[in-house]
Amino acid sequence: MAETLRPNVAQFIKGPLQHFINGKWRPSKDGATDDVVDPSTGKSICKVAMGGSEEIEAAVSAAQAAFHGWATKTPNERSVMLHRLADTLEKHAADLAQLESLDVGKAIVNSEGFDIPFGVEGVRYFADLAVHAHYDIPLGIKNMEARVHRVPYGVCGFIFPWNFPYDLLIWGVMPALAAGNTVVVKPSEVTPLTTLYVCHLAAEIGFPAGVINAVVGTGQKAGSALTAHPQVKRMSFTGSPGVGRMVGEVCGKNLKPCKLELGGKGAAVIFDDVDINSTAEKLAAAITLNTGQVCCTATRWIIHEKIHDELVARTKEKLKAVRVGPALDRQTQMGPLVSRVQLERVTRYIENGTKEGATLLLEPQTLRVTGHEGGFYLTPSLLGGSSDNICCREEVFGPTAYVLKFKDEQAAVHEVNSLSYGLANSVWSSDLKRAHRVAEQMIAGNSWINAHNVFAYGLPYGGANLSGMGGGVNSPETFNDYLRGQTIARPL
Ligand code: NAD
Repeated sequence: MAETLRPNVAQFIKGPLQHFINGKWRPSKDGATDDVVDPSTGKSICKVAMGGSEEIEAAVSAAQAAFHGWATKTPNERSVMLHRLADTLEKHAADLAQLESLDVGKAIVNSEGFDIPFGVEGVRYFADLAVHAHYDIPLGIKNMEARVHRVPYGVCGFIFPWNFPYDLLIWGVMPALAAGNTVVVKPSEVTPLTTLYVCHLAAEIGFPAGVINAVVGTGQKAGSALTAHPQVKRMSFTGSPGVGRMVGEVCGKNLKPCKLELGGKGAAVIFDDVDINSTAEKLAAAITLNTGQVCCTATRWIIHEKIHDELVARTKEKLKAVRVGPALDRQTQMGPLVSRVQLERVTRYIENGTKEGATLLLEPQTLRVTGHEGGFYLTPSLLGGSSDNICCREEVFGPTAYVLKFKDEQAAVHEVNSLSYGLANSVWSSDLKRAHRVAEQMIAGNSWINAHNVFAYGLPYGGANLSGMGGGVNSPETFNDYLRGQTIARPL
C-alpha cells in the first residue's frame, strides 16, 4: 500500500512553489509555471514556477550581496550554521524522503535508508572540514616571508540532474558554502521538490538571506543564463556529457573554473572465483538501484566464460523477483522511471539494441500497476551479444545491463577501456592481488573491488575522460576546490 502524504509534505506541495531568492519565495516575472509530475501515477503533483534570465539575475545579485557577510564569518560560525542545517534535515528526514520519492519515483525504502541520511552526513562532513582546514599556509622560501592565503571565490553556480536531486545538492553545494562562498542552484526542472524544501528549512533556521538561492527552470533558459553570468565565479555542472560540454565551452570562453560530473557506462569484470549467488544479488541490486538511473552503476557485465551461464541464470532469477511498484509503497524495491521521456528513451534503446543483433536474455515489460495506471514502470532486463552494440556502448540509464564473456584478463581490461566514458568500474574476484591489478588498469575516476556503487565521505568520487573533469566530489579536495589560493609575499 502506498502511504498517504505526510502533513508537511502535503502542505509544502500546495505551494505556491516558487524560486528562493534572497531568503524569500518569488514567482517568475512572466508568471510561467510548469507541472511537477509524479512518476508513479504520471499525474501532476503540483505546479512550480519556471524562471529564466531575470530570476537568475536576481538570484546572482542576492548571492553577490550576501557574499561579504558570509565569507567574513569565521569558519566556526559557518560550521555551526551548517550543523544546524544538518540537524533540521535530520529532523525532517521523513518529509524529505517522501518528497524525493514522490518526485523521482525512487523507492521510499531507498530514500529513507540511503539518500536522505547520507545527505545529512554530508552536510556534517563539510561543516567539520571547514573548521579543520588551513586558510593560511606558510611557505618556507629563502629570504622571504610568504604564505598562501586561501579565500572563497564569490558566487558559485550549480546545475543538477534529476536522478539524485537531494544528495547531489548536498555533495555540490555544501563544500562551497562551508568554504565561504554563496550559491545559486538550478535543480532539474523535472525534480525540483527537495531542493526547494532544503531552502525552506534553511530559511526556517535563520540561514542568512542570499547565501543559498534556487531558481527552477529549463536548461535552455535558466541553466544557460546561470552558466554565462559574469558574476558567477565558479560553475559546477552534473548531468549528461552533451550538456556538460556546452556548459564547459561557455565557462572556457569566460575563463571561469568549472567542475563537470558527467555520465558513465560502468563495467563490472567478474572472474570465475566469485561466490555466484552473492555476486548475482549485488549485480541485480546495481541495475535496479534508483531504477537503473545511476550514472556510475554497472551496466556492462564482463563475465568469465566459465561462470557466464550460471551467473546470468542466477541474476535473472534475482531480477525477476524484484518488486516493481509505486515509489511510496513500502513493499516496492524498484520504482518507476522518472518520466515518460525516460521510459521511452530506455525502451527505444533496447529496441534498437535488439535490432542491431543483441539477444534479450531477460525481456523488459512495461507494467500497468493497479491504481497507478499512468506510472512509468518498466521491469529489469538483460541483453547480450557483441560489444559494438548500441546498448553496450551508450548510456541507457534504466534498469538494464549488457552482458559480455571473457577468457583472458587483458582482454577484459581492454573491453572495459574501449569506451570514452570513465566514471566507475568494478572487479570481482577472491584473488585480491588480481583484483587490485585489474582495478589499477581500468581507466576511470573510481575502481571498486567486489562491490559496485561505493560511496563514503572522504572517498573522492569523480570522472575521467567523457565522464567529467575539474575535481569530483565528497573529499577534502572538494572543499579545497572552493577556495582560491592567493600568495602573499614579502622579500626580506
Ligand atoms: P541533462 O544533461 O539533460 O540535464 C542536467 C541539467 O542541465 C538539468 O538541470 C538541465 O535543465 C540542465 N541543462 C540542460 N541544458 C542546459 C544548457 N544548455 N545549459 C545549462 N544547463 C542545461 O541530464 P539529466 O537527463 O538531467 O541527467 C542524467 C545525466 O546525468 C546522465 O548522463 C547521468 O549519468 C548524469 N549524472 C552524472 C552524475 C555524476 O556524478 N557524474 C550524477 C548524476 C547524474
